[in-house]
Amino acid sequence: ASSEEVALEVREVTKRFKGLVALDRVSLTVPTGEIRGIVGPNGSGKTTLFNVISGFYDPTQGSVLLGGRDVTGLAPYRLSQRGVARTFQNLRLFEDLSVRENILLGLDRTRTSWIWRYPGLPWKVLGYERALHRRAEELIERFGLTEVADAEPRSLPYGIQRRIELARAMAMSPSLLLLDEPAAGMNGEEVRRLAEIVRSIRDSGVTVIIIEHNMGLVMSLCDQVTVLSSGKVIADGQPADVAVHPDVVAAYLGD
Ligand code: ADP
Repeated sequence: ASSEEVALEVREVTKRFKGLVALDRVSLTVPTGEIRGIVGPNGSGKTTLFNVISGFYDPTQGSVLLGGRDVTGLAPYRLSQRGVARTFQNLRLFEDLSVRENILLGLDRTRTSWIWRYPGLPWKVLGYERALHRRAEELIERFGLTEVADAEPRSLPYGIQRRIELARAMAMSPSLLLLDEPAAGMNGEEVRRLAEIVRSIRDSGVTVIIIEHNMGLVMSLCDQVTVLSSGKVIADGQPADVAVHPDVVAAYLGD
């Protein structure tokens, strides 16, 4: 496949913490426009893999390629400029700001960074700020947040807070979106709504990688699934095939 067809390639990545091997020569290739599930028992290395892909950890060995370019060891902000956005297992929203302000903060100014090299340009005339607000309103509507746009996140149900976090990540116009347990704490209706939103994100051309324990969601949502156990990839493929893989069954029964 050409580099345009491959959004992300992780090549033989090992991550050690002192004596502990959290990732052991992990390789995976995620085609552009796919929803990839990452599953595995607790402690199998899923979050460490996200931290390596998004630049929070340097791998001990191996490399990470985005669209065919080596990005190993780049800082998180650099990766975010290159289109990587993520959400966290524990919500990280600004509690004293409104939903709208949280989303505005995520809006991507870095992609237009050339604009800041010309001090004194009349932004208001250019309508730049207005364009940001328009984009925020689009996201608010798309993620079903119109009625809560002026509220503070902490006053809202957990499922809605998760949706705000997703909207903020999408405000960065990412090409690769990493979701760490997005359905945690959601009720059935919220999970269904989340699945719809993630599909629409995928259908707009964004590659999505999702760590998720809700197997029903993984099976119905993901195009392919990668299974980690003790830091190693033990299976990789279509959800239905992976689910019946003997090593996967053993890893989950042993959890
Ligand atoms: P998962 O997300 O699958 O539950 P993690 O990636 O969080 O697994 O953890 C994999 C292993 O790496 C665990 O044994 C965990 O304790 C260890 N680990 C993760 N982050 C660190 C760290 N910053 N320092 C030391 N050990 C860590």
